Amino acid sequence: MVMNIGVLALQGAVTEHVRAIQSCGANAILVKSSNDLAQVDGLLLPGGESTAMRRLIDYAQLLPALQEFSMEKPVFGTCAGLILLASEIENETPHIGKMRITARRNAFGRQVESFEVPLSIRGVKEDFSAVFIRAPKIVSVHEDVEVLATFEGDIVCARDRHFIACSFHPELTNDLSLMQYFLAMCREKAEEQVAQ
Ligand code: GLN
Repeated sequence: MVMNIGVLALQGAVTEHVRAIQSCGANAILVKSSNDLAQVDGLLLPGGESTAMRRLIDYAQLLPALQEFSMEKPVFGTCAGLILLASEIENETPHIGKMRITARRNAFGRQVESFEVPLSIRGVKEDFSAVFIRAPKIVSVHEDVEVLATFEGDIVCARDRHFIACSFHPELTNDLSLMQYFLAMCREKAEEQVAQ
């Protein structure tokens, strides 16, 4: 089954994710409206600037559709996308708010303090090269959330049911392993829904 994977295409690192999705053999669909959202088996929320993305989501009147989509379908939030997905954000009101994590924005310093480190991501890869750019961290998780990676004691990748989020930018390297993990989540969910 060829999966249709959406990339929220309002702002941020859209093209790089499209390329990664296609390299994994799935169809990439740019999501700008609720009609686009209806076509996809899973959704990727890219990095960028969460406040700008939220403004554009509101302008497109897309928040209810995104929240409804998230009730059933897999969503992968990277960096700013993690912030969009978090049920709590320190000192801010949440956006889509469905993944049971608390996010702290800009927790790893400024743009000039960007860095790349090898990370061990549980169930994905032992040495994933992770690029952090004004990245958020996950300061706490609901007890059923699976922590997939930490960096210097901070949670930087986690999975909650059909949600996965990471602080870093997987699309900036050629490593497709995390995208493949997300596609497997999408495939599993789609098969589950067909079986019902
Ligand atoms: N600092 C950004 C935010 O708070 C996230 C940075 C990123 O996506 N690279 O939304």
